[in-house]
Amino acid sequence: MPQLNDPSLLRRDAYVGGQWLSAPADARFAVSDPATGKTIAEVADFDGEATERAIEAAHAALPAWRDRTAKDRANLMRAWRDLIMAHQDDLALLMTAEQGKPLAEASGEVAYGASFIEWFAEEGKRILGEVIPTHAPGKRVLVFRQAIGVVGAITPWNFPIATVTRKAAPALAAGCTAVIKPAPETPLCALALAELAHRAGIPAGVFNVVPSNRAAAVGEAMTTHPKVRKFTFTGSTAVGKLLMQQCASTVKKVSLELGGNAPFIVFDDADLDAAIEGVMLSKFRNTGQTCICANRILVQDGIYDAFAERLAERIADLNVGNGLDDGVMQGPLITGAAVDKVERLLTDATDKGARVRVGGQRHALGGTFFQPTLIEDVTAEMAMADEEIFGPVAALFRFRDEADAIQLANATEYGLAAYFYSRDLGRAFRVSEALEYGMVGVNEGLLSTENAPFGGVKQSGIGREGSHHGIEDFTEMKYVLLGGIGA
Ligand code: ADP
Repeated sequence: MPQLNDPSLLRRDAYVGGQWLSAPADARFAVSDPATGKTIAEVADFDGEATERAIEAAHAALPAWRDRTAKDRANLMRAWRDLIMAHQDDLALLMTAEQGKPLAEASGEVAYGASFIEWFAEEGKRILGEVIPTHAPGKRVLVFRQAIGVVGAITPWNFPIATVTRKAAPALAAGCTAVIKPAPETPLCALALAELAHRAGIPAGVFNVVPSNRAAAVGEAMTTHPKVRKFTFTGSTAVGKLLMQQCASTVKKVSLELGGNAPFIVFDDADLDAAIEGVMLSKFRNTGQTCICANRILVQDGIYDAFAERLAERIADLNVGNGLDDGVMQGPLITGAAVDKVERLLTDATDKGARVRVGGQRHALGGTFFQPTLIEDVTAEMAMADEEIFGPVAALFRFRDEADAIQLANATEYGLAAYFYSRDLGRAFRVSEALEYGMVGVNEGLLSTENAPFGGVKQSGIGREGSHHGIEDFTEMKYVLLGGIGA
Protein backbone atom coordinates (compact mmCIF):
# COMPACT_ATOMS: atom_id res chain seq x y z
CA MET A 1 0.00 0.00 0.00
CA PRO A 2 1.50 3.35 -1.01
CA GLN A 3 2.03 5.94 1.73
CA LEU A 4 -0.89 8.37 2.04
CA ASN A 5 -0.36 12.03 2.92
CA ASP A 6 -3.20 11.60 5.37
CA PRO A 7 -2.96 8.03 6.72
CA SER A 8 -6.21 8.36 8.66
CA LEU A 9 -8.09 8.07 5.36
CA LEU A 10 -7.35 4.35 5.45
CA ARG A 11 -10.22 3.07 7.63
CA ARG A 12 -10.81 -0.57 8.39
CA ASP A 13 -14.04 -0.46 10.38
CA ALA A 14 -17.64 0.22 9.43
CA TYR A 15 -19.01 3.74 9.79
CA VAL A 16 -22.39 3.62 11.51
CA GLY A 17 -24.24 6.31 13.41
CA GLY A 18 -21.20 8.56 13.23
CA GLN A 19 -18.92 5.95 14.83
CA TRP A 20 -16.32 3.48 13.62
CA LEU A 21 -17.48 -0.02 14.54
CA SER A 22 -15.91 -3.43 14.19
CA ALA A 23 -18.09 -6.35 13.14
CA PRO A 24 -19.57 -8.83 15.65
CA ALA A 25 -16.78 -11.09 16.97
CA ASP A 26 -14.41 -8.73 15.11
CA ALA A 27 -14.93 -10.67 11.88
CA ARG A 28 -12.75 -9.30 9.07
CA PHE A 29 -12.01 -9.93 5.41
CA ALA A 30 -8.90 -9.18 3.39
CA VAL A 31 -8.80 -6.48 0.72
CA SER A 32 -6.00 -7.05 -1.75
CA ASP A 33 -4.22 -5.10 -4.46
CA PRO A 34 -5.08 -6.73 -7.80
CA ALA A 35 -1.71 -5.66 -9.24
CA THR A 36 0.32 -7.51 -6.63
CA GLY A 37 -2.13 -9.89 -4.96
CA LYS A 38 -0.95 -8.55 -1.59
CA THR A 39 -3.35 -7.79 1.25
CA ILE A 40 -3.80 -4.07 1.87
CA ALA A 41 -6.18 -4.14 4.82
CA GLU A 42 -8.37 -6.43 6.93
CA VAL A 43 -11.78 -4.82 6.94
CA ALA A 44 -14.78 -5.30 9.27
CA ASP A 45 -17.09 -7.97 7.88
CA PHE A 46 -20.65 -6.91 8.71
CA ASP A 47 -23.44 -9.47 8.81
CA GLY A 48 -27.18 -9.09 8.41
CA GLU A 49 -27.88 -8.20 12.05
CA ALA A 50 -25.16 -5.56 12.19
CA THR A 51 -26.62 -4.12 8.97
CA GLU A 52 -30.02 -3.92 10.64
CA ARG A 53 -28.46 -1.83 13.38
CA ALA A 54 -27.03 0.50 10.74
CA ILE A 55 -30.50 0.80 9.22
CA GLU A 56 -31.87 1.73 12.65
CA ALA A 57 -29.14 4.38 13.01
CA ALA A 58 -30.08 5.82 9.61
CA HIS A 59 -33.72 5.79 10.61
CA ALA A 60 -32.99 7.59 13.87
CA ALA A 61 -31.09 10.31 12.00
CA LEU A 62 -33.81 10.77 9.39
CA PRO A 63 -36.23 13.28 10.99
CA ALA A 64 -33.61 15.87 11.89
CA TRP A 65 -31.87 15.62 8.53
CA ARG A 66 -35.12 15.70 6.54
CA ASP A 67 -36.30 18.76 8.45
CA ARG A 68 -33.24 20.88 7.72
CA THR A 69 -33.49 23.28 4.84
CA ALA A 70 -32.14 22.08 1.52
CA LYS A 71 -29.64 24.91 1.71
CA ASP A 72 -28.31 23.67 5.05
CA ARG A 73 -27.88 20.19 3.65
CA ALA A 74 -26.22 21.61 0.54
CA ASN A 75 -23.69 23.54 2.64
CA LEU A 76 -22.63 20.38 4.46
CA MET A 77 -22.47 18.43 1.22
CA ARG A 78 -20.40 21.17 -0.35
CA ALA A 79 -17.92 20.91 2.55
CA TRP A 80 -17.80 17.13 1.96
CA ARG A 81 -17.15 17.66 -1.74
CA ASP A 82 -14.37 20.16 -1.01
CA LEU A 83 -12.66 17.74 1.37
CA ILE A 84 -12.83 14.99 -1.25
CA MET A 85 -11.13 17.27 -3.77
CA ALA A 86 -8.57 18.41 -1.20
CA HIS A 87 -7.65 14.72 -0.74
CA GLN A 88 -7.93 13.79 -4.40
CA ASP A 89 -4.39 12.38 -4.56
CA ASP A 90 -4.78 10.15 -1.51
CA LEU A 91 -8.17 8.90 -2.65
CA ALA A 92 -6.73 8.10 -6.07
CA LEU A 93 -3.90 6.14 -4.45
CA LEU A 94 -6.37 4.17 -2.36
CA MET A 95 -8.45 3.47 -5.43
CA THR A 96 -5.57 2.28 -7.57
CA ALA A 97 -4.38 0.10 -4.71
CA GLU A 98 -7.68 -1.70 -4.19
CA GLN A 99 -9.15 -1.55 -7.68
CA GLY A 100 -6.17 -1.49 -10.05
CA LYS A 101 -7.06 1.30 -12.47
CA PRO A 102 -4.19 3.59 -13.54
CA LEU A 103 -3.61 6.48 -11.17
CA ALA A 104 -4.64 9.16 -13.68
CA GLU A 105 -7.97 7.40 -14.21
CA ALA A 106 -8.41 7.02 -10.46
CA SER A 107 -7.78 10.70 -9.95
CA GLY A 108 -10.34 11.46 -12.66
CA GLU A 109 -12.87 9.26 -10.91
CA VAL A 110 -12.38 11.10 -7.62
CA ALA A 111 -13.29 14.38 -9.36
CA TYR A 112 -16.14 12.71 -11.22
CA GLY A 113 -17.46 11.22 -7.97
CA ALA A 114 -17.21 14.58 -6.21
CA SER A 115 -19.13 16.22 -9.06
CA PHE A 116 -22.26 14.29 -8.10
CA ILE A 117 -22.12 15.72 -4.59
CA GLU A 118 -21.78 19.25 -5.95
CA TRP A 119 -24.54 18.70 -8.50
CA PHE A 120 -27.09 17.14 -6.19
CA ALA A 121 -26.39 19.52 -3.31
CA GLU A 122 -27.74 22.19 -5.65
CA GLU A 123 -30.53 20.05 -7.12
CA GLY A 124 -31.84 19.47 -3.60
CA LYS A 125 -32.84 23.14 -3.55
CA ARG A 126 -35.01 22.62 -6.61
CA ILE A 127 -37.25 19.73 -5.60
CA LEU A 128 -40.46 21.44 -6.53
CA GLY A 129 -44.05 20.65 -5.61
CA GLU A 130 -47.10 21.61 -7.67
CA VAL A 131 -50.41 23.39 -7.45
CA ILE A 132 -52.73 21.75 -9.99
CA PRO A 133 -55.74 23.75 -11.23
CA THR A 134 -58.67 22.62 -9.14
CA HIS A 135 -61.62 20.42 -10.18
CA ALA A 136 -64.01 22.22 -7.80
CA PRO A 137 -64.37 25.71 -6.37
CA GLY A 138 -63.35 25.93 -2.72
CA LYS A 139 -60.74 23.21 -3.06
CA ARG A 140 -57.09 23.24 -4.01
CA VAL A 141 -54.98 20.38 -5.36
CA LEU A 142 -51.42 20.41 -4.04
CA VAL A 143 -48.53 18.04 -4.66
CA PHE A 144 -45.64 17.79 -2.21
CA ARG A 145 -42.37 16.03 -2.93
CA GLN A 146 -40.83 14.67 0.24
CA ALA A 147 -37.76 12.64 1.15
CA ILE A 148 -38.62 8.97 0.72
CA GLY A 149 -36.82 7.82 3.88
CA VAL A 150 -33.92 5.49 4.58
CA VAL A 151 -32.05 4.39 1.45
CA GLY A 152 -30.19 1.08 1.15
CA ALA A 153 -27.48 0.91 -1.51
CA ILE A 154 -25.18 -1.80 -2.83
CA THR A 155 -22.34 -0.78 -5.12
CA PRO A 156 -19.80 -2.55 -7.37
CA TRP A 157 -15.98 -2.50 -7.48
CA ASN A 158 -15.36 -0.92 -10.89
CA PHE A 159 -16.08 2.68 -9.79
CA PRO A 160 -15.49 2.55 -6.04
CA ILE A 161 -16.18 6.26 -5.45
CA ALA A 162 -18.49 7.37 -8.25
CA THR A 163 -21.03 4.57 -7.75
CA VAL A 164 -21.28 5.52 -4.07
CA THR A 165 -21.68 9.28 -4.61
CA ARG A 166 -24.19 8.82 -7.45
CA LYS A 167 -26.49 7.20 -4.91
CA ALA A 168 -25.58 8.90 -1.65
CA ALA A 169 -25.54 12.46 -3.04
CA PRO A 170 -29.12 12.56 -4.38
CA ALA A 171 -30.30 10.67 -1.30
CA LEU A 172 -28.74 13.12 1.16
CA ALA A 173 -29.70 16.18 -0.89
CA ALA A 174 -33.34 15.09 -0.91
CA GLY A 175 -33.30 14.68 2.88
CA CYS A 176 -32.89 10.90 3.02
CA THR A 177 -30.33 9.00 5.09
CA ALA A 178 -28.35 6.12 3.59
CA VAL A 179 -26.70 2.80 4.36
CA ILE A 180 -24.18 1.73 1.73
CA LYS A 181 -22.60 -1.67 1.24
CA PRO A 182 -19.58 -1.28 -1.04
CA ALA A 183 -18.18 -4.21 -3.01
CA PRO A 184 -15.89 -6.47 -0.95
CA GLU A 185 -13.08 -5.86 -3.45
CA THR A 186 -13.14 -2.06 -2.89
CA PRO A 187 -14.48 -0.98 0.52
CA LEU A 188 -11.57 1.36 1.31
CA CYS A 189 -12.69 4.19 -0.98
CA ALA A 190 -16.20 4.13 0.48
CA LEU A 191 -14.79 4.17 4.02
CA ALA A 192 -12.53 7.10 3.14
CA LEU A 193 -15.62 8.93 1.87
CA ALA A 194 -17.22 8.25 5.25
CA GLU A 195 -14.19 9.66 7.07
CA LEU A 196 -14.47 12.84 4.99
CA ALA A 197 -18.25 13.06 5.50
CA HIS A 198 -17.55 12.91 9.22
CA ARG A 199 -14.97 15.68 9.00
CA ALA A 200 -17.37 17.77 6.90
CA GLY A 201 -19.90 17.64 9.72
CA ILE A 202 -22.53 15.45 8.03
CA PRO A 203 -24.52 14.43 11.13
CA ALA A 204 -24.22 10.99 12.72
CA GLY A 205 -26.40 8.35 11.04
CA VAL A 206 -26.98 10.28 7.82
CA PHE A 207 -24.30 8.45 5.78
CA ASN A 208 -23.38 4.92 6.88
CA VAL A 209 -20.99 2.45 5.27
CA VAL A 210 -21.14 -1.26 6.09
CA PRO A 211 -18.33 -3.23 4.46
CA SER A 212 -19.06 -6.92 4.13
CA ASN A 213 -17.97 -10.08 2.45
CA ARG A 214 -21.39 -11.58 3.12
CA ALA A 215 -23.27 -9.88 0.35
CA ALA A 216 -26.33 -12.11 0.46
CA ALA A 217 -26.93 -11.54 4.20
CA VAL A 218 -26.47 -7.78 3.98
CA GLY A 219 -28.54 -7.66 0.79
CA GLU A 220 -31.34 -9.53 2.49
CA ALA A 221 -31.30 -7.19 5.48
CA MET A 222 -31.45 -4.12 3.24
CA THR A 223 -34.08 -5.40 0.85
CA THR A 224 -36.46 -6.81 3.45
CA HIS A 225 -36.17 -4.28 6.28
CA PRO A 226 -39.43 -2.29 6.45
CA LYS A 227 -37.62 0.92 7.43
CA VAL A 228 -35.64 0.97 4.17
CA ARG A 229 -37.99 2.71 1.73
CA LYS A 230 -35.74 2.86 -1.29
CA PHE A 231 -33.17 0.39 -2.55
CA THR A 232 -30.59 1.26 -5.18
CA PHE A 233 -28.12 -1.16 -6.74
CA THR A 234 -25.36 -1.12 -9.31
CA GLY A 235 -24.00 -4.50 -10.37
CA SER A 236 -24.77 -7.56 -12.43
CA THR A 237 -28.17 -8.22 -13.97
CA ALA A 238 -28.45 -11.58 -12.21
CA VAL A 239 -27.95 -10.11 -8.73
CA GLY A 240 -30.14 -7.10 -9.59
CA LYS A 241 -33.04 -9.38 -10.48
CA LEU A 242 -32.68 -11.26 -7.22
CA LEU A 243 -32.57 -8.08 -5.13
CA MET A 244 -35.55 -6.64 -6.98
CA GLN A 245 -37.48 -9.77 -6.13
CA GLN A 246 -36.47 -9.47 -2.48
CA CYS A 247 -37.60 -5.83 -2.44
CA ALA A 248 -41.09 -6.96 -3.44
CA SER A 249 -41.66 -8.24 0.11
CA THR A 250 -41.79 -4.66 1.44
CA VAL A 251 -42.72 -2.89 -1.84
CA LYS A 252 -39.66 -0.68 -1.94
CA LYS A 253 -38.94 1.79 -4.65
CA VAL A 254 -36.07 0.25 -6.63
CA SER A 255 -33.36 1.67 -8.91
CA LEU A 256 -31.04 -0.66 -10.78
CA GLU A 257 -27.97 0.00 -12.90
CA LEU A 258 -27.17 -3.40 -14.36
CA GLY A 259 -25.11 -4.98 -17.09
CA GLY A 260 -24.64 -3.70 -20.60
CA ASN A 261 -23.61 -5.03 -24.00
CA ALA A 262 -22.76 -1.80 -25.75
CA PRO A 263 -22.63 -1.75 -29.55
CA PHE A 264 -20.13 0.69 -31.03
CA ILE A 265 -21.12 1.22 -34.66
CA VAL A 266 -18.73 2.69 -37.23
CA PHE A 267 -20.42 3.62 -40.50
CA ASP A 268 -18.53 4.02 -43.78
CA ASP A 269 -19.03 7.79 -43.61
CA ALA A 270 -17.44 8.10 -40.13
CA ASP A 271 -14.48 10.31 -39.34
CA LEU A 272 -11.99 7.47 -38.94
CA ASP A 273 -9.63 9.32 -36.60
CA ALA A 274 -12.47 10.31 -34.31
CA ALA A 275 -13.91 6.79 -34.33
CA ILE A 276 -10.56 5.30 -33.35
CA GLU A 277 -10.18 7.80 -30.49
CA GLY A 278 -13.73 7.09 -29.37
CA VAL A 279 -13.40 3.33 -29.41
CA MET A 280 -10.12 3.44 -27.48
CA LEU A 281 -11.79 5.53 -24.78
CA SER A 282 -14.94 3.51 -24.65
CA LYS A 283 -13.31 0.08 -24.84
CA PHE A 284 -10.20 0.41 -22.72
CA ARG A 285 -11.26 2.69 -19.88
CA ASN A 286 -10.71 0.86 -16.60
CA THR A 287 -9.10 -1.99 -18.62
CA GLY A 288 -12.44 -2.73 -20.25
CA GLN A 289 -14.23 -3.09 -16.93
CA THR A 290 -17.15 -0.66 -17.21
CA CYS A 291 -20.78 -1.45 -17.92
CA ILE A 292 -20.74 1.02 -20.83
CA CYS A 293 -17.54 -0.29 -22.47
CA ALA A 294 -17.89 -1.01 -26.19
CA ASN A 295 -18.63 -4.75 -26.11
CA ARG A 296 -19.41 -5.24 -29.80
CA ILE A 297 -17.62 -3.03 -32.29
CA LEU A 298 -19.71 -3.14 -35.46
CA VAL A 299 -17.86 -1.85 -38.52
CA GLN A 300 -19.31 -1.33 -41.99
CA ASP A 301 -17.76 -3.24 -44.91
CA GLY A 302 -16.28 -0.25 -46.71
CA ILE A 303 -14.23 1.01 -43.75
CA TYR A 304 -13.64 -2.29 -41.95
CA ASP A 305 -10.09 -3.04 -43.12
CA ALA A 306 -8.76 0.48 -42.57
CA PHE A 307 -10.40 0.64 -39.16
CA ALA A 308 -9.01 -2.75 -38.07
CA GLU A 309 -5.53 -1.79 -39.18
CA ARG A 310 -5.53 1.49 -37.23
CA LEU A 311 -7.09 -0.06 -34.18
CA ALA A 312 -4.53 -2.87 -34.14
CA GLU A 313 -1.70 -0.31 -34.03
CA ARG A 314 -3.26 1.59 -31.16
CA ILE A 315 -3.99 -1.53 -29.12
CA ALA A 316 -0.48 -2.87 -29.60
CA ASP A 317 0.80 0.42 -28.12
CA LEU A 318 -1.12 0.18 -24.85
CA ASN A 319 1.18 0.04 -21.88
CA VAL A 320 0.17 -2.61 -19.30
CA GLY A 321 1.32 -2.59 -15.68
CA ASN A 322 0.74 -1.62 -12.09
CA GLY A 323 -1.56 1.43 -12.15
CA LEU A 324 0.76 3.22 -9.72
CA ASP A 325 3.60 3.24 -12.27
CA ASP A 326 4.13 6.16 -14.64
CA GLY A 327 2.75 5.82 -18.14
CA VAL A 328 0.63 2.74 -17.45
CA MET A 329 -2.61 2.78 -19.45
CA GLN A 330 -3.98 -0.66 -18.60
CA GLY A 331 -4.02 -2.10 -15.10
CA PRO A 332 -4.77 -5.64 -13.94
CA LEU A 333 -8.22 -7.20 -14.05
CA ILE A 334 -10.00 -7.26 -10.73
CA THR A 335 -9.82 -11.02 -10.02
CA GLY A 336 -8.65 -14.34 -11.41
CA ALA A 337 -12.27 -15.14 -12.23
CA ALA A 338 -12.40 -12.07 -14.49
CA VAL A 339 -9.37 -13.36 -16.40
CA ASP A 340 -10.93 -16.82 -16.69
CA LYS A 341 -14.05 -15.27 -18.21
CA VAL A 342 -12.08 -13.31 -20.81
CA GLU A 343 -10.18 -16.48 -21.76
CA ARG A 344 -13.39 -18.51 -22.02
CA LEU A 345 -14.97 -15.91 -24.32
CA LEU A 346 -11.87 -15.75 -26.52
CA THR A 347 -11.63 -19.53 -26.81
CA ASP A 348 -15.31 -19.79 -27.68
CA ALA A 349 -14.90 -17.11 -30.39
CA THR A 350 -11.74 -18.57 -31.95
CA ASP A 351 -13.26 -22.07 -31.90
CA LYS A 352 -16.11 -20.65 -33.97
CA GLY A 353 -13.86 -18.91 -36.51
CA ALA A 354 -12.84 -15.52 -35.08
CA ARG A 355 -9.19 -14.43 -35.48
CA VAL A 356 -7.01 -12.84 -32.80
CA ARG A 357 -5.02 -10.02 -34.41
CA VAL A 358 -3.36 -8.49 -31.32
CA GLY A 359 -2.81 -9.99 -27.85
CA GLY A 360 -5.16 -12.77 -26.81
CA GLN A 361 -3.12 -14.17 -23.91
CA ARG A 362 -2.49 -13.66 -20.23
CA HIS A 363 0.18 -10.99 -19.86
CA ALA A 364 3.80 -11.85 -19.08
CA LEU A 365 3.40 -9.81 -15.86
CA GLY A 366 1.33 -12.71 -14.52
CA GLY A 367 -1.36 -12.34 -11.86
CA THR A 368 -4.53 -10.90 -13.32
CA PHE A 369 -2.84 -8.96 -16.11
CA PHE A 370 -4.15 -9.65 -19.62
CA GLN A 371 -2.85 -8.51 -22.99
CA PRO A 372 -4.90 -5.79 -24.70
CA THR A 373 -6.54 -7.73 -27.49
CA LEU A 374 -8.10 -7.22 -30.91
CA ILE A 375 -10.23 -10.05 -32.23
CA GLU A 376 -11.76 -9.92 -35.72
CA ASP A 377 -14.56 -11.66 -37.60
CA VAL A 378 -16.67 -12.01 -34.49
CA THR A 379 -20.27 -13.02 -35.22
CA ALA A 380 -23.60 -13.16 -33.41
CA GLU A 381 -23.15 -16.92 -32.83
CA MET A 382 -20.25 -16.35 -30.45
CA ALA A 383 -20.72 -15.97 -26.68
CA MET A 384 -19.08 -12.53 -26.59
CA ALA A 385 -21.95 -11.22 -28.72
CA ASP A 386 -24.29 -11.83 -25.77
CA GLU A 387 -22.08 -11.57 -22.68
CA GLU A 388 -20.24 -8.61 -21.23
CA ILE A 389 -16.53 -9.20 -21.83
CA PHE A 390 -15.44 -6.89 -18.97
CA GLY A 391 -11.83 -6.99 -20.05
CA PRO A 392 -9.40 -5.44 -22.57
CA VAL A 393 -10.74 -7.22 -25.65
CA ALA A 394 -11.93 -5.27 -28.69
CA ALA A 395 -14.27 -7.51 -30.71
CA LEU A 396 -14.87 -6.52 -34.32
CA PHE A 397 -18.07 -7.51 -36.14
CA ARG A 398 -18.76 -6.66 -39.79
CA PHE A 399 -22.04 -5.30 -41.19
CA ARG A 400 -23.45 -4.32 -44.60
CA ASP A 401 -25.91 -1.45 -44.18
CA GLU A 402 -27.78 0.69 -41.67
CA ALA A 403 -30.67 -1.74 -41.22
CA ASP A 404 -28.22 -4.57 -40.61
CA ALA A 405 -26.34 -2.49 -38.01
CA ILE A 406 -29.50 -1.59 -36.10
CA GLN A 407 -30.73 -5.17 -36.11
CA LEU A 408 -27.37 -6.44 -34.80
CA ALA A 409 -27.09 -3.64 -32.23
CA ASN A 410 -30.54 -4.29 -30.77
CA ALA A 411 -30.23 -8.09 -30.72
CA THR A 412 -29.53 -8.28 -26.99
CA GLU A 413 -31.46 -8.33 -23.75
CA TYR A 414 -29.39 -5.36 -22.56
CA GLY A 415 -29.99 -1.68 -23.29
CA LEU A 416 -27.53 0.53 -21.43
CA ALA A 417 -25.17 2.48 -23.73
CA ALA A 418 -24.69 2.49 -27.50
CA TYR A 419 -22.34 4.50 -29.69
CA PHE A 420 -22.14 5.25 -33.39
CA TYR A 421 -19.96 7.29 -35.69
CA SER A 422 -21.37 8.89 -38.82
CA ARG A 423 -21.23 12.31 -40.47
CA ASP A 424 -24.70 12.03 -42.00
CA LEU A 425 -27.18 14.18 -40.07
CA GLY A 426 -30.24 12.20 -41.17
CA ARG A 427 -28.57 8.98 -40.11
CA ALA A 428 -27.61 10.51 -36.78
CA PHE A 429 -31.31 11.03 -36.02
CA ARG A 430 -32.58 7.76 -37.51
CA VAL A 431 -30.07 5.59 -35.71
CA SER A 432 -30.35 7.48 -32.39
CA GLU A 433 -34.09 6.88 -32.48
CA ALA A 434 -33.83 3.22 -33.52
CA LEU A 435 -31.31 2.10 -30.90
CA GLU A 436 -33.04 0.44 -27.93
CA TYR A 437 -30.66 1.92 -25.36
CA GLY A 438 -30.93 4.36 -22.48
CA MET A 439 -27.87 6.32 -23.67
CA VAL A 440 -26.44 6.93 -27.12
CA GLY A 441 -23.10 8.54 -27.97
CA VAL A 442 -23.07 10.01 -31.49
CA ASN A 443 -19.48 10.64 -32.53
CA GLU A 444 -18.60 10.42 -28.81
CA GLY A 445 -17.07 7.52 -26.90
CA LEU A 446 -17.47 8.83 -23.38
CA LEU A 447 -20.96 9.53 -22.04
CA SER A 448 -20.70 9.84 -18.27
CA THR A 449 -21.26 13.25 -16.71
CA GLU A 450 -23.17 14.33 -13.63
CA ASN A 451 -25.56 16.61 -15.51
CA ALA A 452 -26.99 13.88 -17.79
CA PRO A 453 -29.35 10.99 -16.97
CA PHE A 454 -27.35 7.76 -16.83
CA GLY A 455 -29.27 4.51 -17.02
CA GLY A 456 -30.56 1.67 -19.11
CA VAL A 457 -33.64 0.13 -20.67
CA LYS A 458 -34.60 -3.55 -21.11
CA GLN A 459 -32.64 -5.73 -18.67
CA SER A 460 -29.99 -3.06 -18.05
CA GLY A 461 -31.97 -1.38 -15.33
CA ILE A 462 -34.59 0.90 -13.92
CA GLY A 463 -34.22 4.58 -13.11
CA ARG A 464 -31.61 7.20 -13.93
CA GLU A 465 -28.62 8.55 -12.01
CA GLY A 466 -27.33 12.09 -12.50
CA SER A 467 -29.11 15.14 -13.95
CA HIS A 468 -32.20 16.67 -12.37
CA HIS A 469 -33.95 13.32 -12.93
CA GLY A 470 -31.55 11.51 -10.62
CA ILE A 471 -33.05 12.97 -7.46
CA GLU A 472 -36.68 12.07 -8.19
CA ASP A 473 -36.28 8.46 -7.15
CA PHE A 474 -35.31 9.61 -3.66
CA THR A 475 -38.56 11.50 -3.19
CA GLU A 476 -42.16 10.45 -2.73
CA MET A 477 -45.09 12.35 -4.16
CA LYS A 478 -47.90 13.33 -1.83
CA TYR A 479 -51.23 14.67 -3.05
CA VAL A 480 -52.96 17.02 -0.64
CA LEU A 481 -56.54 18.15 -1.28
CA LEU A 482 -57.20 21.33 0.62
CA GLY A 483 -60.90 22.07 1.11
CA GLY A 484 -62.97 24.62 2.96
CA ILE A 485 -61.37 27.54 1.16
CA GLY A 486 -64.68 29.13 0.22
CA ALA A 487 -66.11 30.03 -3.16
P1 ADP B 1 -19.77 -8.03 -10.19
O1 ADP B 1 -19.78 -9.21 -11.10
O2 ADP B 1 -19.50 -6.75 -10.87
O3 ADP B 1 -18.98 -8.22 -8.94
P2 ADP B 1 -22.12 -8.34 -8.62
O4 ADP B 1 -23.53 -8.05 -9.02
O5 ADP B 1 -21.78 -9.72 -8.22
O6 ADP B 1 -21.27 -7.82 -9.83
O7 ADP B 1 -21.67 -7.36 -7.45
C1 ADP B 1 -22.11 -6.04 -7.29
C2 ADP B 1 -22.42 -5.81 -5.83
O8 ADP B 1 -23.45 -6.70 -5.45
C3 ADP B 1 -21.26 -6.07 -4.88
O9 ADP B 1 -21.33 -5.13 -3.83
C4 ADP B 1 -21.57 -7.47 -4.36
O10 ADP B 1 -21.01 -7.72 -3.08
C5 ADP B 1 -23.07 -7.42 -4.30
N1 ADP B 1 -23.74 -8.74 -4.32
C6 ADP B 1 -23.37 -9.86 -4.96
N2 ADP B 1 -24.25 -10.86 -4.72
C7 ADP B 1 -25.20 -10.35 -3.89
C8 ADP B 1 -26.39 -10.88 -3.27
N3 ADP B 1 -26.77 -12.13 -3.45
N4 ADP B 1 -27.10 -10.05 -2.48
C9 ADP B 1 -26.73 -8.77 -2.29
N5 ADP B 1 -25.63 -8.22 -2.85
C10 ADP B 1 -24.88 -8.99 -3.65
